[in-house]
Amino acid sequence: MVKYDTVLIRFGELSTKGKNRKDFIQKLYMNIKNTFNDIDDFTYRKTHDRIYISFEGDYQDLITERLKKVFGISSFSFTKKVDSKYEEIENTCLEIAKESETKSFKIIARRQDKTFPLNSDIINRNIASTILKNTDLKVDVHEPDLPIRIEVQKELTYITTQKILGAGGYPANMNGKVLLLLSGGIDSPVACYELMKRGLKVEAIHFAAPPYTSENAKNKVLTLAKMLSEYQFDMHVHIIPFTDLQLEIYRVAKDPYAITLMRRMMFRIAEKVAKANNCLAIASGESVGQVASQTLESINTINDVVHIPVLRPLICFDKIEIIDLAKKINTYETSILPYEDCCTIFDPKNPVTKPNIEKCEYYESQFNYLEMIEEAINNEDIKKVIFTREKEDYL
Ligand code: ATP
Ligand code: MG
Repeated sequence: MVKYDTVLIRFGELSTKGKNRKDFIQKLYMNIKNTFNDIDDFTYRKTHDRIYISFEGDYQDLITERLKKVFGISSFSFTKKVDSKYEEIENTCLEIAKESETKSFKIIARRQDKTFPLNSDIINRNIASTILKNTDLKVDVHEPDLPIRIEVQKELTYITTQKILGAGGYPANMNGKVLLLLSGGIDSPVACYELMKRGLKVEAIHFAAPPYTSENAKNKVLTLAKMLSEYQFDMHVHIIPFTDLQLEIYRVAKDPYAITLMRRMMFRIAEKVAKANNCLAIASGESVGQVASQTLESINTINDVVHIPVLRPLICFDKIEIIDLAKKINTYETSILPYEDCCTIFDPKNPVTKPNIEKCEYYESQFNYLEMIEEAINNEDIKKVIFTREKEDYL
């Protein structure tokens, strides 16, 4: 059996140029190493367009599962590494072909080391003819069952027959920080995933309303944050006590305006916390039209109170698409646990769909919300969740 011993990693977002590209590769390299920081016996190598991990032993499933969660990778392949000597390359390709139970093949050589004596075309033809002579396989240049890719480099050559799709995007933590309103529902964790995929470092802010919301509800949000931190290794979660503000809102405002007023308070607080923590934007899991409070009029009324960009990665997603993504990233089962959120408890019966800014300002003039906002922020509970792995039985 040909034993694959090296994983070859290709980068996504190749449009990045110059210094950006260098940063991209360096960040990706560090993120990949970090992903396997519990495993000592891997060796890493990077070139201008590839990263390689060499390993001994049965690590393929573990590597596959983890690399699929590293943003910035377009694809990766398990390869057999040989010295860059023609005979060795040919023998390995022949061995792979003999082991294969397919009908057709194609040799796809890429000579990156121009001092190698044979060019890509000649390598393709020579190896193909050896395989034709020694096996029953036929050549199919259009849709081969077994594409054998060969990357010839100065000292080493990598041979592979498969390509696994990566997550794409930009390496985590390379494009600045954003503060995400994380509710514990289905949408905001998916929004978090989309933001991290753009290379943004996400900090989370959660509004809790004890005793109306329980410790379980808070822990659910922390569990979600921990799951999501796998992509960026750790995450700060700001838990803000929101009960007093909510009770005041219910005291001064008519029921249909409660949600809008609550959102305005959440955004005001988020803006302050963002600025204090060097986040250049805030973000939410809103999507147009999803619920009454997510109309354009409502978004306008809410945005009116902040002077910081508000990112809404799911703005045009269907609920079904969001649920599919939540299932794919494994947050769905946790999100649907039936713990109360502050918004579900204080949920008004008929929320206004076209709120009016003057009306909001009128209600807000009825109490000293600025002071209450300061107090809520002063009483925040900051947690840093760190992604850790259960000790696994690797081999
Ligand atoms: P989600 O599934 O993310 O809760 P949703 O469809 O239930 O979204 P809403 O509950 O109206 O919609 O919330 C819209 C957005 O407001 C959420 O995606 C989230 O970003 C933010 N949000 C709502 N409640 C909270 C909360 N208690 N703490 C932090 N953010 C919240
Ligand atoms: Mg919600």
